[in-house]
Amino acid sequence: MLRLPRPLEANRAIFGELIDVQTQERLDEVVATFFAAPHSYTTDDVVEISAHGSPVVLRRIVEMALAAGARLAEPGEFTMRAFLHGRIDLTQAEAVRDLIDAQTLFQAKTAAQQLEGALSRPVQPIKKTLVDLIATLEAGVDFAEDDVSVLPDDQILARIAAVRAPLQQLADSFTYGKLVHEGLTLAIIGRPNVGKSSLFNRLVERERAIVTATPGTTRDLVSETVALEGIPIHLVDTAGIRAAADEAERIGIQKTYEAAAEADVVLVVTEANASAADQHHDQKMLAAVAGRKAVLVANKSDLAPTSTAAVSKGIPRVATSALTGAGIAELRAEILRQVGGERAALQEGGLLTNARHQALIAESLAALAKADQATAARVPHEMLLLDLYATLRPLDALTGQTSADDILHLIFGSFCIGK
Ligand code: GDP
Repeated sequence: MLRLPRPLEANRAIFGELIDVQTQERLDEVVATFFAAPHSYTTDDVVEISAHGSPVVLRRIVEMALAAGARLAEPGEFTMRAFLHGRIDLTQAEAVRDLIDAQTLFQAKTAAQQLEGALSRPVQPIKKTLVDLIATLEAGVDFAEDDVSVLPDDQILARIAAVRAPLQQLADSFTYGKLVHEGLTLAIIGRPNVGKSSLFNRLVERERAIVTATPGTTRDLVSETVALEGIPIHLVDTAGIRAAADEAERIGIQKTYEAAAEADVVLVVTEANASAADQHHDQKMLAAVAGRKAVLVANKSDLAPTSTAAVSKGIPRVATSALTGAGIAELRAEILRQVGGERAALQEGGLLTNARHQALIAESLAALAKADQATAARVPHEMLLLDLYATLRPLDALTGQTSADDILHLIFGSFCIGK
């Protein structure tokens, strides 16, 4: 029970006491805020109770609310209500989830932009052009007996092109958007003592303060997430690769190859002062990653080279010194180049980060391509209209104007409770 000095007032916070209904004891001091409809997150009347945060007190507040007739919210229910009441569209609702789940500040920024309409906004004018075209053609179909073509074909094609260009731009942003959203795994392999751990620490050091650390899952594999240009990179520092001396080592090496096989990008580390025999191993390792996204790291560039460095066709080479930090910036840039993330600085608003959005935009573009062909083939406008409606439908689904219930449950089910 809340004991407040005066009744709740719309859009005001009131300081009060939380009294246990059973014992009549004071449990906490709280602030109750009344958000009156429609100026609340869900557009319903909402009262928020802020307590000091003790888990037992919070649980007691929930228990008392339930006893008084409330029920627990479903995962994502508050955001779903905001969506169903038309306060936000579906891309904005998804952005709330992405914002909560953000691992890097850049991910959070992208989600915040989407929440604020960065994806819905560019879609609106596209839809308007499309709907105008559909309306014009529909009118023409209705007056077909008059045998007047409402719109010459070249103008129809021009309008289709005006829809295609921005849609294609959105579709293209997905390569980078997916990286921002999901991140990638980077494995560091190389013989013992070439400087893998030192490089790992160098790559991690700038980021350590703002990223989440995951303790190593096995004794030999340590992983940590760093953000390069906002892309979360899950670094896996592996045990060294060399000809196994014993069974235990063989298992360690096996793990290394497995980690490398699963990684999106592999760093093959060698050293400037490698012996001829070691270089032979390095070449074998390079051969093993042929055809993969990989970077050859020639470490210990501060030491005098003893022989020609290992090379491999098609694998870029970066000289580094984990000791002095030389070449680390170049290595970071090369990692990003490998995955197409170097456009980071350019991509701001309207970034596709979500596979659902990407699939819908692709579907829309495919239907639009058919409309384009249909126009060129001079098919009757009734048929062309079918393709244009098929172009419009996925765009409506994107913002949630037309969404099947099962899709909504899938999306909101992935929220945490009470959001
Ligand atoms: P790992 O076994 O491949 O993980 O190698 P470590 O990172 O443990 O490094 C092995 C040794 O090489 C350590 O003594 C490091 O201090 C040294 N080392 C690592 N990187 C460099 C470098 O760039 N230059 C020099 N001179 N020594 C380095």
